[in-house]
Amino acid sequence: MMKWCNLLMIGLLFSCSKEQQSVRRLKDDNLLVENILRKESSKRYSLPIFEEQDAPKFPWERGAADHLPLITKEFFRCRGSDMNPKRMGLSDLGDTEELCDCGGFLEHGLPLHEGKEWVPPILIELLNDLQESLKVRVVITSGHRCPKHNSYVDPSKANQTSKHLLAAEVSFYVEGYEWKPQEVVNVLLNSQEGPFSRWERETNVSTKPWYNEEIFIKLFRADEGRNFDNRHPYPYISIQVRFDKERGERVTYSWEKANRHYLRK
Ligand SMILES: [Zn+2]
Repeated sequence: MMKWCNLLMIGLLFSCSKEQQSVRRLKDDNLLVENILRKESSKRYSLPIFEEQDAPKFPWERGAADHLPLITKEFFRCRGSDMNPKRMGLSDLGDTEELCDCGGFLEHGLPLHEGKEWVPPILIELLNDLQESLKVRVVITSGHRCPKHNSYVDPSKANQTSKHLLAAEVSFYVEGYEWKPQEVVNVLLNSQEGPFSRWERETNVSTKPWYNEEIFIKLFRADEGRNFDNRHPYPYISIQVRFDKERGERVTYSWEKANRHYLRK
């Protein structure tokens, strides 16, 4: 009985494989192959050769000396704080007035341009280039000032149109170069294209400022330009933007620009 079963199974397998063969033959007979025609000038795409690379750096690792954070617009946020005490200030008219500070970056954002927070790219580039060249930290003491903080810092009339109100001015010193600001200025002057001239008109600094088409550099000595944002004992440097190449326009103060920023509360 077993023998008959085995023979039946073998017969079935044989018939299956025979059927498969005939199907395959039928397919082969009906197979249509379209020739791929290439022109003489045709080329094959070659795969790029991959080279081993280091992992890309995060934004805060990039740029300056490796141990220093990259300066971004975040470094320019208003340094006001509602923890700062009220104080009496003297206006240009000789009146004393009570000054209150703003709530800082918790209260408002940076100036807006086309709906986005904006700091002139030239300032960010220059400060990162300085860190890269000197391999030490640039300490920003004053970037953007909202109108309230600007008055709190310095209520004088001349300061009410400061470019700090537009985030188009920055005050800073450099660690390790606190008492050598001229060396820092020299690095700045050498890093820029275009000749610099000296500003001959009277200003609030004893060192004649340097300027070109794009920026204006002032050096404040240790007894000059002291205000609430610059309460440190060092000389410091300020850079103002005169012409914004990205937008192709002069950077000038206006009340509207100074008051255009997000309010958070
Ligand atoms: Zn503010």
